[in-house]
Amino acid sequence: MKEKGLLIVLSGPSGVGKGSVRKAVFSRPDVHYAYSISMTTRAPREGEVNGVDYFFKTKTEFERLIEEGKLLEYAQYVGNYYGTPVDYVRQQLDEGKDVFLEIEVQGAKQVREKFPEGLFIFLMPPSLDELKKRIVLRGTESSDLIQHRMQAAREEIELVHMYDYVVVNDTIELACQRINAIVQAEHLRSDRIAHHYLKMLGVE
Ligand code: 5GP
Repeated sequence: MKEKGLLIVLSGPSGVGKGSVRKAVFSRPDVHYAYSISMTTRAPREGEVNGVDYFFKTKTEFERLIEEGKLLEYAQYVGNYYGTPVDYVRQQLDEGKDVFLEIEVQGAKQVREKFPEGLFIFLMPPSLDELKKRIVLRGTESSDLIQHRMQAAREEIELVHMYDYVVVNDTIELACQRINAIVQAEHLRSDRIAHHYLKMLGVE
């Protein structure tokens, strides 16, 4: 029987750079994870393509997917729904592929409940000051909203114990190397591979 793939979940506070790190992970030629394209009700940004960046859905379509149990997890973020299609994830894992999710923390919490054997990586800002700088740089948010986002980030960081690994996003390249090293090591855990050797010895 084919070995099941790993479910890799990258999460972390808003503004930490999850999207940039995920893109860098996938730009490496030696990395072959299956990326789970999320569903969302938010409007496409300039340059975004349906079926590549996201599957763009209406609110009604999304709520139907929820009712039909087609989502592994979903969350509301800044007034829009985001969710992970469950069939794709299960199918890729069954084919032995590692599946990579880049999702916000509420969604990661739901995945942990359903897939406790997944690999949960928390992307951490180098400091709260740096996170604030990134949030300010990113947008046109008012100072009230920035305060609100910083408070949300503090609450998100408090959930860090739910994760298996913490990766600091000091530079995208280093964060990306750390994530790939974690995945490689995870594949070599004795509880994942011991049965091959027991089979070799004829004791399993
Ligand atoms: P954006 O609108 O900037 O593309 O994404 C907003 C947030 O939604 C990011 O924190 C991103 O990680 C998160 N996100 C993207 N896809 C999903 C998903 O399928 N589920 C959840 N829970 N969050 C998602």
